[in-house]
This record gives sequence, structure tokens and C-alpha cells, in this order.
Amino acid sequence: MPNRITHDILAEIVEIAADAVICMDAFQRITFFNNGAEAIFGWTPDEIIGQRIETLIPERYRANHSRHVAEFGRSGVNARRMGERREIAGVRKSGEEFPAEAAISQVHQGDNVVFSVVLRDVTVRKRFAQRQQFLAEAGEKLASSFGSSETLNQVARLAVPIIADGCILENRVSNGFLAGAAAHLDPDIEEILDEISTAGARIPPKGHPLTEILEKPSPVLLQSNAASRLMEATANPAYLKAVKAMSPQSALFLPLVAREQLIGALTLFRTKRTFDGDDLSLAEDLARLAALALDNARLHDTVRASLRARDEMVGVVSHDLRNPVAAVKMLSRTLLRAPQANGQQAHESIELIAQAAEQMDALIRDLLDVNRLDAGKLMISAMPVDPAVLLTDSLQTLRPLVEEKGISLDLQLETDLPKVMADRERVQQTLSNLVGNAIKFSPAGSKIVVLTRGHAEGVMISVLDHGRGIAPEQVPRVFDRYWQSARTDREGAGLGLAIAKGIIEAHGGRIWIESRPGEGTTASFTLPLA
Ligand code: ADP
Repeated sequence: MPNRITHDILAEIVEIAADAVICMDAFQRITFFNNGAEAIFGWTPDEIIGQRIETLIPERYRANHSRHVAEFGRSGVNARRMGERREIAGVRKSGEEFPAEAAISQVHQGDNVVFSVVLRDVTVRKRFAQRQQFLAEAGEKLASSFGSSETLNQVARLAVPIIADGCILENRVSNGFLAGAAAHLDPDIEEILDEISTAGARIPPKGHPLTEILEKPSPVLLQSNAASRLMEATANPAYLKAVKAMSPQSALFLPLVAREQLIGALTLFRTKRTFDGDDLSLAEDLARLAALALDNARLHDTVRASLRARDEMVGVVSHDLRNPVAAVKMLSRTLLRAPQANGQQAHESIELIAQAAEQMDALIRDLLDVNRLDAGKLMISAMPVDPAVLLTDSLQTLRPLVEEKGISLDLQLETDLPKVMADRERVQQTLSNLVGNAIKFSPAGSKIVVLTRGHAEGVMISVLDHGRGIAPEQVPRVFDRYWQSARTDREGAGLGLAIAKGIIEAHGGRIWIESRPGEGTTASFTLPLA
């Protein structure tokens, strides 16, 4: 009988099937356990036969399960898919739970009943479906987030807890990385991670996974002992503290690449578990989405910033240029109407017109500088310069201004200062901004000191005044564009210090302000040595 399958062959097929085939008696005791069942559950037939079926079911489902089987026994239906209305799960010998699909059937032999369950482990399929869903949701969320900081936060929120227990996102900046967002399962640890964002940019040391990423943008996985390996390779105190708080077993560093540029890094930490191949490819997919979203967000930021800059510029032009223009119009009309006005009066009017023109010229120059700063086109042609000569020359042109207001100007030079790298004109412009402010905000009869000293970062130049000072909460704002502490300061446009900062930073130096309200202000900057 060539077309009939014998019982022996059938039994063999059932035995070797990849799905679990399990039989039980009326008391729900296991009577048969095939190879597939052994592979899925981890029990051998010897160990499990004779035990109740509950051994294979997570505790919380047990009571319901035996009731369902009993009801099915009474129903007279031959076969039924299990868990049609809800998820079902099995539990392996190791205690690990897994999602499953199963069908139950019953065969009566006289008074005896044999229940058989055919069950499939759907962990991999479920995982794949969850992963697709996660990526779809992540894509949607990231597409609807605006601005780079919101996008970074969104990515951190997506990664924890699905892929990792902790996560740090960093932006690529000229000299390394700058933390942009962090997340952790434990809110206390998350607070510690947040401290990295305020610690400034960091240059990863040699041997650090981020250094490897800078050299070649592909993922770096520290599968075990990540905490101690990272502590060894890290110098940055805030980052050390974060690693210590998380004490990760595994860490996965992923480059964020957009338009062939490394724009940042995503680091995932796991406290106990390690990352497997599936986790790695999910993390890589997330990193790809994140890089794309971050790149878009940055473009969006740039567009917004340039629109804002344009609006501010229009605002300044309409306010600050209007006054001198109005003055010129009025004065010139008066002159035209009375051509024989006496010499003295005419002279004064012409002087005022010249002043207004100068004011407009200065403003236009400042606006153009700000524009250059925005476009990254503020060119510095630095050459070795003796700081003493540079200062003496610069102050020469400022003296008349100081004297006009009855203020004394004192220059204190440390002897034998080394040469600095400076663009003469630009540094003079900076000094004239700083001294100009000192004059503007100092009372007549007071003293302004300009001093130079050697400094760890090169040479430091400070302008000290005894004017009204700046409130501590306002000090961090003075370098902002168009910012002025009072409306009455509207002699300039609030651009001087922003431009000074741009100039000094383009030299590779640093500029800062210290002030005590009522006592005076010191503005200092450094220039690198030649
Ligand atoms: P501007 O001088 O054109 O207003 P700046 O950018 O140079 O713009 O300065 C911004 C603001 O910072 C000033 O308007 C003033 O409120 C404050 N400021 C700057 N320098 C001093 C100073 N030496 N003393 C007191 N306030 C100052």
C-alpha cells in the first residue's frame, strides 16, 4: 500500500516535529512529550512525563488553564485553537517565559480521553513584529519632533527601556562630543547623567570607544565589564560619575551618521543583560533613524535661527538707523531753508550730521560683522604681534573719547610679554568695544584700567571700570546679541560684546565678564601665544 502512511511513520513524524506535541490524560498529566517539546521547554521526556501540564505554564495562567481544559473536555468539540482571545505563554525549565501559539484536541478511546496540544514558540516572530512596530513608532515620533534638543530627548526616551537601561546622546562638535540628552530607568541615575550635558564638550581619550568611532564610524560593543573598561578610558569627571552610577555590564556605542558626516553618537548601557545580535541590529536601526531626524532637526534649527536673525536685523535697522536718519533729515532741511544762517549754528548742525553718519556707519559695520559670524565668514588674519605695541596703539585712538568724558585711562603692562597671534584690526575693534562700554557705563571722574598679564591660555587682557556694574543674573546674557540691561543703554545696538566674543573665539581665545553691581566691571580676554 504505497500511498498509505503507516502508524510507525506517523509516530516518527510527530516525534521529530519542530513544534511541541504534548499529550495528557483526563487528569492533565503529561503522557507524551516529543523532540520539539524537549527543545522548546528544556525538559526531557523522562523528567516531565507523569507531571501535570501546569509545570509548562506560567504560574499566573495555571488556574484558568486547567479550567479551560476541563471545559473543552466537556464541550464535545474535537479540536480548538488555544488563546484565541488572548495571548498564551509557556515557561521553560529555566523559568524563562515565552510567547506561544497552540491548539488542543481530544480523542476518546472508550472511557479514556487523550488531550493533545501542539504548540509553537513564537518568540522570534513576536520579537520581529515588536521591532517593526517599535521602529515605525520611533520614525513617527522622530518625524514630528522639532528642534535638535527635542529630537535628542525623544531618541533617549525611545531607547530606554526598550533597548537599554540607560542612554547618552552626544553631538559631534569640533573638538569632540557634547552631551545632548540622557535617559535612565532609574530617575536618580538619570539626574546624574544629566550633569554630563552641563559639563561642556569632551575629547574622548585614546582607547575610548568614542575615539574609535571618530576614526571609523561603526558600532563598538563592550560586551562585558563595560563599567571598569570605561572608567579606565575616561578622564571627564562628570562622565566618570555617570558610568559609576550606572555600573553597566554592557555598553554599545553607535555612530550617528547623516549625509556621510559623523554628527553624533548614541551610547546604550545595560546594567545586567548583554546585547545580542538582534539588539545590535535594532540599535543600529534606531541610530539610523535618530541620525536622520537629528540632521533634519538641525536644518530646521538653522532655518529658524536665520529667520530670527533676519527679524532682529530688520528690528535693529528700523529702530536704530531711524533716529540718526531722522536727525540728518531734519538738520539738513533746516540748513537748506536758512542758507544764510550764522556760521556757528551751521557748523553745529553739520557736526551733528557727521555724528549721525558715523553712528549709522558703526551700526552697519556691526550688522555686517554679525552676519559674517552667522555665516562662519568672520575672517581672522592673525600674525605674531607684541601685545604691548598692540595695546599702546589701540588705546592711542581711544584716549580722546575717554578724556571727553573726564575719565582717566591707565595702561598697566607686564614686562617681557611673549608675542601673541592676533589680527591687529580685529583685536583693536574688540578693545574699542570693551573700552567703549567702560566709558559708557562709568561716571565722569572715574578711572578705567587696561592691563595685560601672562596667562595659562596665552596672554590675558582686561578692561576694568568703576561704573555701575552688571547684576549677577544678567552677566551670562551680556554676550547675547541685541541684549542690553536697560532700554536706556540704546546708544549701541547690543551687538558689541557678541561681536567681541566672535572675534576672540575665532582667534582661539576666550572672553568673559566679571562684575559687581555698584562697584564696576572687568571684561577680560585671552589671546594664544605666537
Ligand atoms: P551695547 O554696548 O551696544 O549696548 P554690548 O554688547 O557691548 O552692547 O553690551 C551689552 C550690554 O551689556 C550693555 O547694553 C550693558 O547693559 C551691558 N554692559 C556691557 N559692558 C558693561 C560695563 N562695562 N558696565 C556695565 N554694563 C555693561
